Amino acid sequence: MTLPQRILVLTGSGISAESGISTYRGGADGDKGLWSEVDFQKYASPEGFAEDPEGVQDFYNIRRAQIRTVEPNPAHYALARLQDHLSGQGGSLTLVTQNVDDLHERAGAQTLHMHGEILKGFCDACDSDRFTVKANLTTTDKCQTCGQAGRVRPDVVWFGEMPYHLDAIYAALSSADLFVSIGTSGAVYPAAGFVQEAQSAGIATMELNLEPSDNHWAFDEAIHGPAAEVVPEWTARWDLK
Ligand SMILES: [Zn+2]
Repeated sequence: MTLPQRILVLTGSGISAESGISTYRGGADGDKGLWSEVDFQKYASPEGFAEDPEGVQDFYNIRRAQIRTVEPNPAHYALARLQDHLSGQGGSLTLVTQNVDDLHERAGAQTLHMHGEILKGFCDACDSDRFTVKANLTTTDKCQTCGQAGRVRPDVVWFGEMPYHLDAIYAALSSADLFVSIGTSGAVYPAAGFVQEAQSAGIATMELNLEPSDNHWAFDEAIHGPAAEVVPEWTARWDLK
């Protein structure tokens, strides 16, 4: 099988879960997901932030600290290696993730974070440039751009907000040879619609997931198993430099 030259990979919480990051919506193995334990309206909406900024900052501070204690797994490294290989021969692997952690980057991959990055912050008063959060965000932090206090927030796309990079993602999807979905539930739009988009453009589609996702029927090919196993097995189909 020849290696497709333009691949778009979408990853979701399943790939991070295998590094020890608890998922938001749950998955297999009794993981019911964070949103079953906490009220997402409270922790993942602009209204919730306005109501209880301290509680929201704490929620993300704890998760940010957790991310710093985990490491990328073989699935993250396999994707970084395939991306590097393809770019070395004039192809491309556009890596799009729904995850807000930095595990793809730490494995060496360039990544489009459609739901933002928890390790970054911005000021929602002036929509400032994104900055790296070194420790915690607090309700008294002052914006370095406009000087307002209490308006700095995690750079995470909340419910009701527009995901990032959609133009770039749809452009990459329309010119791809292969669309691969890894570790996603197939329940969160617009990402869940990428497979139909790919199919209507005549692009081959593939699912790598722990179990059949909500829209598994839409894929041409599926491999079910832990991402840390099935992703390296998939990339091993080709002799990567
Ligand atoms: Zn500001």
